[in-house]
Amino acid sequence: MILRNARVVDGTGDVHEEATVQFDSESGRIEAVGDPDPAPDEPSYDLSGRTVMPGLVDAHVHFSLSGEPSVADVVTMSDAELMLTEAKNARLTLESGVTGVRAMGARDLDVVLAERVSQGDVPGPRIVANCRSITITGGHGYHLGREVDGATECRKAVREQVKRGARFIKFMATGGVTTPGTDPDSPAFTQAEMDALVDEAHRRGVHVAAHAHGAAGARAAVEAGVDTIEHGTFLDEETVDLLVSEDVVLVPTLSAPHHIVRNADHATDESLQKTNDVYERHLESFGRAVEAGVEIVGGTDAGTPFNYHGANATEIAFMEEYGMNPGDAIAAMTGRAAEVIGLEDAGVVEPGAHADLLVLDDDPLEDVAVVGEPRTVVKGGEVVAGDPLRRLDRS
Ligand SMILES: [Zn+2]
Repeated sequence: MILRNARVVDGTGDVHEEATVQFDSESGRIEAVGDPDPAPDEPSYDLSGRTVMPGLVDAHVHFSLSGEPSVADVVTMSDAELMLTEAKNARLTLESGVTGVRAMGARDLDVVLAERVSQGDVPGPRIVANCRSITITGGHGYHLGREVDGATECRKAVREQVKRGARFIKFMATGGVTTPGTDPDSPAFTQAEMDALVDEAHRRGVHVAAHAHGAAGARAAVEAGVDTIEHGTFLDEETVDLLVSEDVVLVPTLSAPHHIVRNADHATDESLQKTNDVYERHLESFGRAVEAGVEIVGGTDAGTPFNYHGANATEIAFMEEYGMNPGDAIAAMTGRAAEVIGLEDAGVVEPGAHADLLVLDDDPLEDVAVVGEPRTVVKGGEVVAGDPLRRLDRS
């Protein structure tokens, strides 16, 4: 399959004008960018004026949640009900143009979903999955997570998740907005517990994501050696500098507080109160991180209140609106995200990569919002949503 005369935004930050992308529908891989070697009868379409870019990679989603105002209804669901919810949300996500995600874990469901999607049984993006997020007793996300206390239990919990197939470990370094009775501003684990979590995960060859709102919790997590900080809502200068010097990636999830604040009439009182307090500070914190040169990767926290699956591309618009340039914001939710979450050969338009592509009518570097309205979505060389490629031909 050959797509020619397209603007290619390749996911690494580079742009190729009037370029050609050749991919093989059978292997599902990109064969050439720029210099095609067409087989006889190979279909070739003229995409003049349109843009080809990688499918989005969202580094932080919750397939078990569907944007409900409160998680109360979700935590009482059986595994069977929750798995069907996950399958529905994975399909919505893929059809919107997201071809890779890091799924933050709910019970042991995400690893099963990831396996079935990769076998082609269920439609969805490529998934790097966690099992249960690790939290202190009564801490953020305990309903669907694994409660632990003490360094020995921390190590045991990490080993359990890896045994069940987790490709990364997530732990809750502070309280959270959506779990009543937890404090987003205070560290949850002791330093010794965080050290044990990260050391054990790295010994098992998986990366570590720390949910952290407050600066003290984020700093403790960075000192412990985590790979990514999720949210980073109240980062002060000292913490931002530490992220830079320790090469820790920030996944700011700007979509999460935005949607709660925008739906103030329907949010629960406690989550709204917490969110109003934090939203402005979150945006300042993000701006400070961009300014200081912290590496940023895009993740939506999709599934949290009013933050619906399939609207993931809005995170790129938020990252751009609050400080990043359009090219960096797009790379942060394609190539860089894939690299950071360990999704191999994804997030880029390069020979050898998976043919996970979006075709856009307009130039996303002029207006990043167009990323949310792809004309066609391709995963592994197959059109999975939107128009068939032949309908885009302008020759
Ligand atoms: Zn989350």
